[in-house]
Amino acid sequence: MNERVGPRAINVLGVRVHDVTYNEALDIIEGFVGSTETHQVATVNPEFIMAAQEDEDFKEILNQVSLALPDGVGLLWGSHILGQPLRQRVAGVDTVERLAALSARKGYRLFLLGAAPGVAEETARCLCSRYSGLQVVGTCAGSADVQEEPEILKRIHDARPDFLLVAYGAPKQEKWIYRNRSTLGVAMAMGVGGSFDFISGRAVRAPRWIRRIGLEWLHRLYREPWRWERMLALPRFAGSVLMEGISSRLGR
Ligand code: UDP
Repeated sequence: MNERVGPRAINVLGVRVHDVTYNEALDIIEGFVGSTETHQVATVNPEFIMAAQEDEDFKEILNQVSLALPDGVGLLWGSHILGQPLRQRVAGVDTVERLAALSARKGYRLFLLGAAPGVAEETARCLCSRYSGLQVVGTCAGSADVQEEPEILKRIHDARPDFLLVAYGAPKQEKWIYRNRSTLGVAMAMGVGGSFDFISGRAVRAPRWIRRIGLEWLHRLYREPWRWERMLALPRFAGSVLMEGISSRLGR
């Protein structure tokens, strides 16, 4: 475990989320460099929290990661309803960009794992052209299947990265990292969901103004309508948080 005192955390429907800004998150991640163990980072959003209500293993993993980033505007809203306001949304894709910028400056080595074939390579090309000097020491689509683990782990070991970014979607990527944490040999491993799709340009991110008014989720639903069923987690999350907020006020 990290010996420094951890950041403030709040509890949202039984899932721990850290109240960090982008700068604080990057400082914490940089603090993991040189550690003999792998620190797991998760980007917790309302979909994660609703999935964790029905998946005890996923909930346990989220509650023990070294850093649980507050992703998703719904989480910010929920934190206010629950009387434990978070300061900032820390989105996974923006954290990846900032981590790439930091790594280019400081010489940290990245490994990109997951997404469809070719997407990690394209993401590496985009990041390296944006952040001069960045070392992406390995890319691999692979799969989250247990049978593929020995081959993937060998590629990671041979590349000797500092940071491993895993894009298998939640909860697969969190479980993959957790399962392999003692043999990864990296300072930090983070589940990044669809970040590679956005950075490589394979998926289109909402314009900045839509993100600013908190409607990125609506844009994603418009671009990828097949997500509608998964996105039902959002109203379910809102309902559960409201109930929790009301019952804790009544109990006070
Ligand atoms: N993905 C993958 N293997 C899988 C499932 C997903 O490589 O078995 C990749 C998928 O191609 C995408 C990323 O994981 O690049 C994130 O998937 P999704 O959009 O479902 O996750 P979200 O962004 O919603 O967390």
